[in-house]
Amino acid sequence: MATPLRVLVVEDEDRIRQFLQRGLSYEGYRVDVAEDGQTGLDIARDHPPDLVLLDVMLPGIDGIEVCRRLRAAGDVPILMLTAKEAIEDRVAGLDAGADDYLVKPFAFDELLARIRALLRRVQPSKPDVYRFVDLELDTGTRQGKRSGRLFDLTAKEYELLELFMRNPRRVLTREIIYDRVWGYDFGGESNIIEVYVRYLRQKTEAGGLTRLIHTVRGIGYVLREPE
Ligand code: CA
Repeated sequence: MATPLRVLVVEDEDRIRQFLQRGLSYEGYRVDVAEDGQTGLDIARDHPPDLVLLDVMLPGIDGIEVCRRLRAAGDVPILMLTAKEAIEDRVAGLDAGADDYLVKPFAFDELLARIRALLRRVQPSKPDVYRFVDLELDTGTRQGKRSGRLFDLTAKEYELLELFMRNPRRVLTREIIYDRVWGYDFGGESNIIEVYVRYLRQKTEAGGLTRLIHTVRGIGYVLREPE
């Protein structure tokens, strides 16, 4: 298994920092967090990140200065997070050596797309086929396969199964599944996750095969070896 890529998040706003930490961890990144610029620089020195997400407005040393110092020390990709109104911050960030910027508030998918673009030079591309026990998911044909039997997936089924395959043995909370497959707009009251898990179970267990997608009561689901 490849070493997870390390992302350093420097952001003083608790809500955003935690949102980024949670979301990026589930995407398989190793996430370090800092609440201020100096801490960020210390972490970057002690545990060199593969990418830095850097807020501009920080207490103490601001993001522009942090960016300048990081750039002076190496060529780590830097993605700045800037406030909507502060166009001059974007210019200053790019002048200080940032590779890209993202305007708050941003969609998580947009953030991931930017991160992937910046990491392309170090990150191996997405695998052609995910494998877990005897289950396979082909990212090209978007078909599943278990014990040699192929099955088709609808768009949402595919997204959900890919989320499981990217995070084997990891409990996926309902919240994360909503965020990643259905987006923010979806109400948490719906039983849509249960419905789609049932579809995936029907397809992956056809012919009486053992269960791979398990319910974690009160929390969510996990892709795990049969018990
Ligand atoms: Ca801030």
